[in-house]
Amino acid sequence: MNDVLLADKSLEELEEIAISLGEKKFRASQLYKWVAKGVSYDGMKNLPKSFTDKLAESGYRARGVEIYGEYKSKLDGTVKYLYKLADGNIVEGVLMRYKYGNTLCVSTQVGCRMNCSFCASGLDGLIRNLTAGEILGQVIAVNALNVTDVERGVTNIVLMGSGEPLDNYDNVCKFLTLVSDERGLNISKRNISLSTCGLCDRIRQLADDGYSPTMTISLHAPNDSMRKEIMPIAKRYSISDIISAVKYYFDKTGRRIIFEYSMIAGKNDSEQCARELADVVKGLSCHINLIPLNYVKERGLSGSNKKNVYRFMSLLEKQGVSVTVRRSMGSDIDGACGQLRRKVIKNEDD
Ligand code: SAH
Repeated sequence: MNDVLLADKSLEELEEIAISLGEKKFRASQLYKWVAKGVSYDGMKNLPKSFTDKLAESGYRARGVEIYGEYKSKLDGTVKYLYKLADGNIVEGVLMRYKYGNTLCVSTQVGCRMNCSFCASGLDGLIRNLTAGEILGQVIAVNALNVTDVERGVTNIVLMGSGEPLDNYDNVCKFLTLVSDERGLNISKRNISLSTCGLCDRIRQLADDGYSPTMTISLHAPNDSMRKEIMPIAKRYSISDIISAVKYYFDKTGRRIIFEYSMIAGKNDSEQCARELADVVKGLSCHINLIPLNYVKERGLSGSNKKNVYRFMSLLEKQGVSVTVRRSMGSDIDGACGQLRRKVIKNEDD
């Protein structure tokens, strides 16, 4: 028997499933709506029980991502969620509430292969890829909470949780298609961002395949030698490879590029680094986000202090670079990538 999430399926695929189980095609549209609402088989009021029974017997799951923990920041409106997957694995996500809408940061893998030197997600390597339905399921689960101030539900998505989205290419592409389907969650394509450590071939391929999320590049260093020290992927792709890939992406999609630069005390936060960084992005239609590094105990690196962050920012501004300091949201709830999942798993093991 297969064990497949219905959220992995497009409407057209559900139609095929319905027909193969001897049902009318229109039942698939009803099913598709329930799945997008996170309703279990029992709650699918307008579907015959014979159909939902057949689905369950054939190994289709109506829900596959359950909220497992909820941690509210006292400092801002951020909520961190832990989700449990059908096989018991745990991933995490962050909901950030802004005036203009609700942004959910979703995970794309359990663990990560990239092993960046400051990040908690890669500490145990890659455990497995998430399916499209498991990424979608995070959005569905948060929407289904119906928390009053999430009334409008999730309006914006950033693929910035644990994992490297472009290392799980096919599932992430299917997720991008499903999440913006007008008949389903209908999240505007313009409101979706993807963050990558810079897998250049895949950046080009994404544009070639017709996807256009806002491309966010985790740069974190202004030159290759420093980048190699903090991000192993820099041994495969140089900064100039990244720049040519994002130019290609911009030309094809018209979407402005964003660079993330996590500031590590005494490492990448000098005046010299700011000058080099301004040169790297010269002439590009882009924006730089500076983020003071969140401290991760196992990694032992500290974030730059406020004074250095703002000095760095003003040096960039003087060079005409568009730059902001991003608030490090939810730092009291282990807001950074992979931190909370690890803490909870470790406590369970103790
Ligand atoms: N793999 C993707 C997306 C996941 S991480 C990527 O590399 O972009 C999302 C962002 O958080 C990345 O920019 C990542 O470098 C950053 N990040 C990871 N750990 C961090 C930490 N401890 N403090 C601040 N930013 C961190």
